[in-house]
Amino acid sequence: MANERDAVKAPEATPVYDVVIIGSGPAGYTAAIYAARANLRTLVLQGEQLGGQLMITSEVENYPGFEDGVQGPELMDKFEKQARRFGADMVPQDVTKVDFSAQPFTVWTYNKQYQGNSVIIATGASAKWLGLPNEERLQGRGVSGCATCDGFFFREKTIAVVGGGDTAMEEALFLTRYASQVHLLHRRDSFRASKIMQARVQSNPKITIHYNTEVTDVLGENAVEALTLRDTQTGEVSTLPVQGFFVAIGHQPNTDLFKGILDMDAVGYLKPTTHTMTNIEGVFLAGDVADSRYRQAVTAAGEGCRAAIDAERWLEARGELNPETAEDASAWGELNDSRDAARDACAATR
Ligand code: NAP
Repeated sequence: MANERDAVKAPEATPVYDVVIIGSGPAGYTAAIYAARANLRTLVLQGEQLGGQLMITSEVENYPGFEDGVQGPELMDKFEKQARRFGADMVPQDVTKVDFSAQPFTVWTYNKQYQGNSVIIATGASAKWLGLPNEERLQGRGVSGCATCDGFFFREKTIAVVGGGDTAMEEALFLTRYASQVHLLHRRDSFRASKIMQARVQSNPKITIHYNTEVTDVLGENAVEALTLRDTQTGEVSTLPVQGFFVAIGHQPNTDLFKGILDMDAVGYLKPTTHTMTNIEGVFLAGDVADSRYRQAVTAAGEGCRAAIDAERWLEARGELNPETAEDASAWGELNDSRDAARDACAATR
């Protein structure tokens, strides 16, 4: 029978990983594939919502290698299995706290702590949503946060885009390639988008602009059928029949955990210093967490690859990898350069 002393357990010891990856979208899993395959002891803290934004996308048709397209969740499942094949450990928990003040770096989940000699941050970004009653239920069934991903499915359909910034302009213009008509809905009487984007939208015959218009809900049983709107000046309520609804009110990088620790821009996107390294040596970034421009699965995967190679070279340059198991002996350029310069300076004074 368990006594009181048994109940107070010592914290479970975990190994110090070569690399701890935070995030499980295309960037995180690709970093894991590269790191684990290079014989680095690799841990992926996947988060409770595995797989990132592709898990809420239906078909992905522009990821190279899948000529007939692939479902977003299936693609992420393949990424994960590929990383596991090379021995990456996976923990499906959210990171709640980090300490990057000393090596090895420490990260916490709600019930455990992990340590790594390097860290790759691939926590991604989240599309902002309006929070309408039926918005989440109809995601993937006509409600989307990405025109590049889903526009193709709306050929000859009537769709609506909400937002007044450059993203909304860009999405509305992109969607005119497919849709028969695009309604652009904005809550104020003027756009905040750049003048050039506004001009393009205003001159596009397929786009109808609705200023002072608030979306109050999305209607439809199994697919989007209409929106309910409210005129912000008169209070008049109306219904707009559409088959697609694109929310383009901005993205938010998932960087709250790193505020005050890592350099970021005013919106919260992480800023690299050298290659994919952040302002803290040994902490690297990959994917949408530092990318407000491209935000594609394939670009995120490429970033994950870069970050893993950088982490490996950086660890190698510091002598923290076993030379017999390290796959790539080429060193982290800048560190080596500065070491070489220091050695040369030293030699010159002798
Ligand atoms: P943004 O500039 O912050 O614009 C967000 C828009 O969504 C605003 O018009 C805002 O309305 C509206 N909005 C926000 N919350 C809303 C809500 N709850 N209900 C209704 N409307 C809401 O975001 P963004 O358009 O994603 O652009 C972000 C940055 O990326 C900008 O600096 C932009 O210039 C840049 N960007 C550049 C390009 C390009 O150069 N091609 C493309 C995309 C983005 P209000 O205006 O009323 O606040």
